Amino acid sequence: MRIKSHVACMFSEELSHELEKRGIKFSREENPFNGEAYLVFDALDFQDGHILPPDAIVSSSPVYSKKELDNADLLTCRCINAKVTLEKEERSFCIVEVYEDGAKARHKFPSGDPFYVRTAPKHRNTQDFFRTYSLSDYDLFCTERAKQVLLGCFPDIEVSFNRVLSSKNDMPVDNLYYLGINEILALDEIDLSGARRFRCPVCGKETFAEPMQLAIKAKPSSIIMKTTRCFSYGGNLEYSTLVVSQRFRKALIEHNLSRGLIFEPVIEL
Ligand SMILES: [Zn+2]
Repeated sequence: MRIKSHVACMFSEELSHELEKRGIKFSREENPFNGEAYLVFDALDFQDGHILPPDAIVSSSPVYSKKELDNADLLTCRCINAKVTLEKEERSFCIVEVYEDGAKARHKFPSGDPFYVRTAPKHRNTQDFFRTYSLSDYDLFCTERAKQVLLGCFPDIEVSFNRVLSSKNDMPVDNLYYLGINEILALDEIDLSGARRFRCPVCGKETFAEPMQLAIKAKPSSIIMKTTRCFSYGGNLEYSTLVVSQRFRKALIEHNLSRGLIFEPVIEL
């Protein structure tokens, strides 16, 4: 695994020289609001944090080689394109500990009832998996084609392909399913030792920021499973990460179904 750092900070001649010395390409941008110059760059395995000014904003993400991806037994699987817009969310989500004005809640998760859309996503002829901004990247919607391939490759797959309903007439939408995952990794099977915690101020319930790489203690035999709903971004949505076997990844790639999906190796402790 290599770490890609995306850095944004105030522009200075000194820093630009330091980056040139290291062969790091950067761009000089202008803040449209105050006209101040700032500097943006990406670097792999950046070790020189000391040359950055204190105001630098650094975001890090893992980068895996093809070999690392091919050799992993288990991988997380998420979708990067949000193309499904949900409607009538009050029907599809449990909302607990609602604030007094009713606008927000401290805990929100899918109730298991159907999801509603006004229209199905376009691009279903070129892309087979989708996500929505209302859920996490790991909550997948798929096409009929993807469903048929998965059932063909894995007749015992522990997935329910749930119909998505039209918000206009409550009828199932054509060619769109939400993947319900039945196999759950329990909290004590996930290594959360280094993870940042969020604690609910009302009930004390803890959720965790996702670690850069998921590590699990279990030796699962399923081809697709999800963690218990223990992750959040610090807001009210609690979500699971989706974990799949290498056979699942290979089947999707082989059948040209992996567009828009990101796989990342899971560490098995
Ligand atoms: Zn709470």
